[in-house]
Amino acid sequence: MLIKELGEFNLIKRLSAGLKPTREGIIAGIGDDAAALASPEGKLLIVTTDMLVEDVHFRLKTAKPFEIGWKSMAANISDIAAMGGEPTYAFVSIGFTRQTKVEFADELYAGMKEIADIYSVDIVGGDTVSAPQIVINISLLGEVEPENLIRRSGAKIGDALLVTGDLGGADAGLAILENNLELNDTKKHLMPIPRVKEARILAKSGYVTSMIDISDGLASEVNHICEMSGTGAHVHKKDIPLSDNVRQVAKYTNRNPYDFALYGGEDYELLFTCQPDKVLFLTEEIFKKTGTKLTVVGKIHAASLSVTIEDDSSKITPLYPRGYDHFANSNINKTS
Ligand code: ADP
Ligand code: MG
Repeated sequence: MLIKELGEFNLIKRLSAGLKPTREGIIAGIGDDAAALASPEGKLLIVTTDMLVEDVHFRLKTAKPFEIGWKSMAANISDIAAMGGEPTYAFVSIGFTRQTKVEFADELYAGMKEIADIYSVDIVGGDTVSAPQIVINISLLGEVEPENLIRRSGAKIGDALLVTGDLGGADAGLAILENNLELNDTKKHLMPIPRVKEARILAKSGYVTSMIDISDGLASEVNHICEMSGTGAHVHKKDIPLSDNVRQVAKYTNRNPYDFALYGGEDYELLFTCQPDKVLFLTEEIFKKTGTKLTVVGKIHAASLSVTIEDDSSKITPLYPRGYDHFANSNINKTS
């Protein structure tokens, strides 16, 4: 059945019928003019929003509606995590076309709900409209204790620069789909896992000086931290941990494997800084509690030295923030 046959209000009823709130702060949820949410005492409210547009951020040919729903929620959850917070309530606004089927909406919502449940996020409102292309906008609230809020701006000279997990896997997954490669490791592109648990442990440790989630490639994110912190940084290329699928996809596409990690993006791993003598403690703590590895990829230094990268042959070059720019070209890629 097409959505236009079902109608807007029946669709909203159908999508929201499956939502079971898990949190206690909902005074008024879906069905009123606005949501009324209890404000957490003694905590800061964090708010983020992300928009995904058909043929800019996803293609219906290569991504299932479930995956599109999952990813749109994951991108927002990752932003809350990067501030050191816990995600709480989401608002989901969607534009469907006149040709969109009800099953598509069901599956999209199922993907959102699956990841929302994992991270205890309740969908408490949104908007549903018709549009020439499918558009999804999620706004997500979160909360954090004031002492655990981690900004991009806190990096100090001498700090180590670390990442969670492996990088480049999402962009390698995108390359598999875009080039029809005979490989199937597309999970990190289609259904990324935001690092909420890791971010919370890092934030609560008191040792993390700055943090950002890697949505636009390592090069871009290192530059963001440096710009906001008034520092420079030096990255060692050989230390960048690459995802399993990267080297294989690099071979198929004749690209440098490190480019997937540096310029690809959408990995939704965390990039953060801490004093070098805290690296061992944090690495052990995170691995023990989450099974996720941490890797030192470089260090923070004085601003005048700017952001540089050293390759295998010890050659040092500037590391420019060559990430994705929505208005620079018409690639299919990023969610922010
Ligand atoms: P209004 O006309 O006041 O904007 P709507 O008819 O658009 O109200 O929405 C009715 C209720 O359904 C509101 O609580 C709104 O937040 C919620 N809602 C609408 N679309 C969605 C959606 N896609 N997901 C979740 N809730 C939605
Ligand atoms: Mg409305």
